[in-house]
Amino acid sequence: MTNLQVRTSEPVRKSRSVERLVVGRPTSDGAGVKLTRVLTQPLQRRLDPFLMLDAFASDNPDDYIGGFPDHPHRGFETVTYMIAGRMQHRDSAGHEGLLENGGVQWMTAGCGVIHSEIPQQEAGVMEGFQLWLNLPARDKMSEPWYRDFTAAELPRFVTDGGVDVTVIAGTSHGVAGAVTREATAPLYLDLHLPTGTRFAQPLPVGHNAFVYVYRGEVRIGDETLPTNRMAILANEGAADGVVIEAAGEAKVLLIAGQPLNEAIAQYGPFVMNTDQEIYQALNDFRDGRLA
Ligand code: MN
Repeated sequence: MTNLQVRTSEPVRKSRSVERLVVGRPTSDGAGVKLTRVLTQPLQRRLDPFLMLDAFASDNPDDYIGGFPDHPHRGFETVTYMIAGRMQHRDSAGHEGLLENGGVQWMTAGCGVIHSEIPQQEAGVMEGFQLWLNLPARDKMSEPWYRDFTAAELPRFVTDGGVDVTVIAGTSHGVAGAVTREATAPLYLDLHLPTGTRFAQPLPVGHNAFVYVYRGEVRIGDETLPTNRMAILANEGAADGVVIEAAGEAKVLLIAGQPLNEAIAQYGPFVMNTDQEIYQALNDFRDGRLA
């Protein structure tokens, strides 16, 4: 903590307001992993270019031990951020890695991968998030790409107001994140706000943005965001960013990106632009062309 670089807080003249608070939907996926789907399919258009956000947090191995055995993806990117626990990844493009406390795995499925995500622990807390980021039509059939970042490899700074910021994607306060993407310009920040602090982040007008609170509660304008809530931020022309205030200690994800404004066709783990491309993906998977 002591040797983190300190950055002068960026000015935000007028904060976006909260358009809507969303409660995640409890579900299970993979081999019975219990999780909360925070960004669900009906919000994909509103939060374009983001397709999904899952939060998983449990200290009961029955909730996570099965993991996500071999399954395919095509047409988008998955960003897995592990707060606690260990997850082993293996895919058909030959990538393999262990994701641990505070690490991020960024996978571009592109034209297709088959992968598994399996917990490497039999007890203890498993907590993290998986975000799905869409690819523009022109990149959906690109070569798969993969990279693991340990917690130490993720760019991090502290504001002069005392907020601890990990920059997973995009740029904040002049600090470039682990990954940047031109078409979707994703911003993905993990903010640790000590008691009585505020964090201001400029956001381009027109980018869709949301906040997910995973510890404590925060305020944006006159709206209180409790734990485990997502707040969709309004796209107000007059607002130049967002200001997040914490009366008590809080931890939140701030995620924003440039909408693609392209048609979205999803069938499970395939996200393309047309039904025809979905049928093609299903055929390719069935005929072994995704491996
Ligand atoms: Mn997967």
